[in-house]
Amino acid sequence: MKFAMALTLAIPAIFFAEAGRTADAPVVVTSIKPVHSLVSAIMQGVGTPELIVDGAASPHTYNMKPSNARALQNAKVVFWVGPGLEAFLEKPLEAIGSDAGVAELDKAPGLTKLKFREGGAFEPHDDGEDHHDGDGHDHAHADADHGHDHGVFDTHLWLDPQNAKAMAAEITTTLVAADPANALTYQANAKTLDDRLDALDKEISSIVSPVKDKPFIVFHDAYQYFENRYHVRVAGSITVSPETIPGAERIAEIHKKVGELGATCVFAEPQFQPRLVDVVIEGTKAKAGVLDPEAATLDAGPDLYFNLMHGIANSMKECLSRES
Ligand SMILES: [Zn+2]
Repeated sequence: MKFAMALTLAIPAIFFAEAGRTADAPVVVTSIKPVHSLVSAIMQGVGTPELIVDGAASPHTYNMKPSNARALQNAKVVFWVGPGLEAFLEKPLEAIGSDAGVAELDKAPGLTKLKFREGGAFEPHDDGEDHHDGDGHDHAHADADHGHDHGVFDTHLWLDPQNAKAMAAEITTTLVAADPANALTYQANAKTLDDRLDALDKEISSIVSPVKDKPFIVFHDAYQYFENRYHVRVAGSITVSPETIPGAERIAEIHKKVGELGATCVFAEPQFQPRLVDVVIEGTKAKAGVLDPEAATLDAGPDLYFNLMHGIANSMKECLSRES
């Protein structure tokens, strides 16, 4: 009796497994958490991508682990932003075989790309040209001969949901080509993601709009796309890129600028020296806040991108609307 019952229960389970079986999920490797999040959302129901820059690590200072190299060797598809952000991946990706498809998302069609800014205080160069863009921000231009790690354009592309949409479209095209058996699932997930990103864009805009005229200082120059999309007033950064530890002279310059501007907040980032922020705000009216543009404190997964953008918007609003 017991045996018969087990048998009748087992049959439908086998049936289901046969009927619902799709091709095995391809091994997909992603570079950073925001990219992993978009790929995870599009792969839901098929598989889970692997992540290289996990935990509190930053792509600016990352060192490859042996397990990362093994993951790359087994990958069918690799998604990264590009050499301007994940410089550590450039050589390993050249070394892996041509079997793997490598999708460099900074080449996705439809991206808004902004030039990398010179000098974290965003002073225009004194070269006789007027770089004032008319909305109260002075943007320095990027000179090729100044040569820095980030290349010609700013690679923090994901901090504008419209760019996330362009990246998601490129991810979908790549996955459908690499794994046509699961194309319908990828396309359905992509549609859901695209709608969520549009809704997110509106939400972020309404969260930050009450504080968009308050100047503030950030730790590293990661927020240009966020500024461009939502018109918040980043007045300078402590360091242009976290590979470079700012010297005493630079800290003094930023400290002076905080006072002059009446900057409301100076934002640290969780993985980089918060003590510098205390030095910068000492004796000024500015408050300290924290922004997490590379999602160091967030759990990886399909919702990470949304938590990342809400986190930035809410932190800005909270700190910038505090009364002094
Ligand atoms: Zn960065």
